[in-house]
Amino acid sequence: MKAARWYAAKDIRVEQTDIPVPKDNQVKIAVQFTGICGSDLHEYNHGPQLIPGDKPYPLNGHQGTTTLGHEFSGVVDEVGKNVKKFKKGERVVVEPIFRNPESPFTASGEYNLSEPLGFVGLTSNGGFAKYVVVEDYMVHKIPDNMSFEQGAIVEPAAVAAYGLQQSGMKLGDTVLVSGAGPIGLLTVQVALAMGASRVFVSDLSESRLKKAKEIGAAYTFNPKEVNIPEKVKEITGYGADIFIDAAGVQASFDAGIHSLRNGGTAVLVALFAKEVVHDALNQSLRELTVKGIIGYRNIFPQVIALISSGRLPVEKLVTNVISLDEIVDKGFEALIKSPTEVKILVDINK
Ligand SMILES: [Zn+2]
Repeated sequence: MKAARWYAAKDIRVEQTDIPVPKDNQVKIAVQFTGICGSDLHEYNHGPQLIPGDKPYPLNGHQGTTTLGHEFSGVVDEVGKNVKKFKKGERVVVEPIFRNPESPFTASGEYNLSEPLGFVGLTSNGGFAKYVVVEDYMVHKIPDNMSFEQGAIVEPAAVAAYGLQQSGMKLGDTVLVSGAGPIGLLTVQVALAMGASRVFVSDLSESRLKKAKEIGAAYTFNPKEVNIPEKVKEITGYGADIFIDAAGVQASFDAGIHSLRNGGTAVLVALFAKEVVHDALNQSLRELTVKGIIGYRNIFPQVIALISSGRLPVEKLVTNVISLDEIVDKGFEALIKSPTEVKILVDINK
């Protein structure tokens, strides 16, 4: 079968590889659509980061050359002999986080905190291929009215939904989102679906801010042009209730913290590449909550239901659909070079 396999930074090859065979507790899926994620882009630009380079991933022994792709939808093709919940022909999506069966966090249901952290398409072969094999606990059925294109966006939408759930956002709250990439824009959509009164978005790219406006942001700010905390306080009177950092740099962190109302909550959804300087006294005096999150847990069913209801039009974020053969030029390189791209999907059958 054909697969897009990572060999090293800037070296992804679309080539023939063996069709995987499911073990007793695994499900083999015929992949339909797979989204390109920011973390795939990191592996392409300067990996290996999450791909196990030096030593194998302990939960499955995977190491080295890896078929990328963790945001995908597909059809069940075959199941291992212990799998009773799924059968051939069912339409599904995959929640790609590995769960260590021996971790106390898996036992407590906080499986995204189980170590070592691993994802399909990074610590195992993923969805930029005709077939993929995953653990049965990762699989979720999708309703017939959900398209496979929408299915491929359930995973990043789950990140956005989990971030807002963890923020404790309430009906009528104001939300500032920094970073208008796929996760930031999905956060705008989820915040509105959850009943935010006004969503503010900041980004350096005008085309991405335009997209944020299109999907319902009340105000957009370019930090090159406006003082964001001043602007947010001018509009709200005292600051934003919730700040979601989907950019993950010192400037976005500072602007967000200073835009919050006293007693407000910041959630760090982005994975920061560098350390930040943080004024802990200011946090105390203003009773701010600063919370980190990794991935999501126990939220795929809700996100699937919300997309299926039509109140989370995630398909609006798709800017291009390409074939597997085009994944380097029209996928990774396009995302690096073109600020107008948001979510690029690979149609595996194209
Ligand atoms: Zn992702």
